[in-house]
Amino acid sequence: MGSYTIQQVLIPVGQGYETVDVQIEGDAIAAIAPHLEPIGTVIDGRNKLLLPGFVNAHTHSSELWQRGSIAPLPLELWLGELCDFPLPDPEQVYLSALGTAVETLLSGGTTVVDHLTLIPGQEKETVAAAVRGYQEVGIRAFVGPLIQDQSLTTSLPTGGEQRTHVPHYMSLQDNLDLMADLVANFHRPEAGMNIMLAPTGPQLCSNALLTGCVELSDRHSLCRHTHLLESKAQQMLAYEKYGCSAAEQLQRLGFLGDRTSLAHCVWLDDADIAILAATHSTVVHNPLSNLRLGSGIAPILKYRQAGVNVTFGCDGSASNDSQDVLEAIKLGCILHNTTDFDYRHWITPKDAIQMASLGGATGLNLADQIGSLTVGKKADLALYSLTNLSLLPRTDPIGLLVLGRPTQVVDSVWVNGRLVVQQGEMATLDVATLRQELFERSQWDGTRHSPLRQEMEAPYRRVMGLPA
Ligand SMILES: [Zn+2]
Repeated sequence: MGSYTIQQVLIPVGQGYETVDVQIEGDAIAAIAPHLEPIGTVIDGRNKLLLPGFVNAHTHSSELWQRGSIAPLPLELWLGELCDFPLPDPEQVYLSALGTAVETLLSGGTTVVDHLTLIPGQEKETVAAAVRGYQEVGIRAFVGPLIQDQSLTTSLPTGGEQRTHVPHYMSLQDNLDLMADLVANFHRPEAGMNIMLAPTGPQLCSNALLTGCVELSDRHSLCRHTHLLESKAQQMLAYEKYGCSAAEQLQRLGFLGDRTSLAHCVWLDDADIAILAATHSTVVHNPLSNLRLGSGIAPILKYRQAGVNVTFGCDGSASNDSQDVLEAIKLGCILHNTTDFDYRHWITPKDAIQMASLGGATGLNLADQIGSLTVGKKADLALYSLTNLSLLPRTDPIGLLVLGRPTQVVDSVWVNGRLVVQQGEMATLDVATLRQELFERSQWDGTRHSPLRQEMEAPYRRVMGLPA
């Protein structure tokens, strides 16, 4: 870590832009003013735009190994296919964490929320591997191990049918013991590494597990994260399981709050939206995944009008299938123009940038530390080259960054004051070696056979009212 003076850089101010010098000292933004006495390394900021780093607020890093390979299927059947892939080993978990971090950083993200799939029997090793990857690359990370105490087949609504399920291999107590151990070993917020309590979702968890997560997170002031009402099937299941919506059930269990972020939130009604607003919960919008899996269009404009904080995630690479934060921001910005005829509610590019930065920080209870260009905040910053062909000619830099198709426009990235991307290249990692590892540990394969998906298909079609 050192000191930096970025000279004559463009920053957004109000409706327009100003040219300023920005100084980084240690881990923080030390000064922002038109002309500063240079300290440390001087960086030419002319024809560049400086923005607070984005939060990739929901992903599953190890899905990188399956990206591009799962057929067009709805969430429940897609999950069946995903579960039939061979498990990664911890070294692969480490490599996919690196890949996820690199793609996030090179699209302007400085924080990643990894809802991390655990290797059965090697749960602690899985988390250790991802943590090692994120610390080496230098991205700020929130690792939320995916925990559940019910097996995948319980996630389908029954429609009144009797079904039997194999028990999940991790019991309630196994899960809670594991999480307490992981918090003690890996939660180091001062080093940019955070553990969060992240049960998979109400559809796969007992009430006792959700309550246990609330207690543990409250004891250590940790963030909470989960999938909420991603699909129509989950909405149907919640009424079967609880007799109310899943949002209402999470509120009853004390799971919601200003340290809670909720991925997807597609199938919420007006009463549910009021619950999210009243509890100051954050919605993580994953527009690409929601389209890819046919989950639906989340009522994002309604959330915003109700005062609910909204930010963006890429979601795992098997349902997107990339980790380009700018792509998620673009789609999340324009998709909702189709849902509300009143264009005054539409999301502007500047709104979208703020949702991705300060909105993401807010959902992680870090709004006082990151998410804006503010003296005293941590230096989590991205510097964009405005002379890249994809950002020319010179118009509105943020308008073009969000609505255009920016390619390789990230010049530099700092996380916690550490320079992790320099002149468009990773400064902390040899990407050629990563490419080689990803290449050698995979093979081209266009055919998949998934017994679990086949097993789930008939009951899924019955309960969703589809022809057999
Ligand atoms: Zn997810």
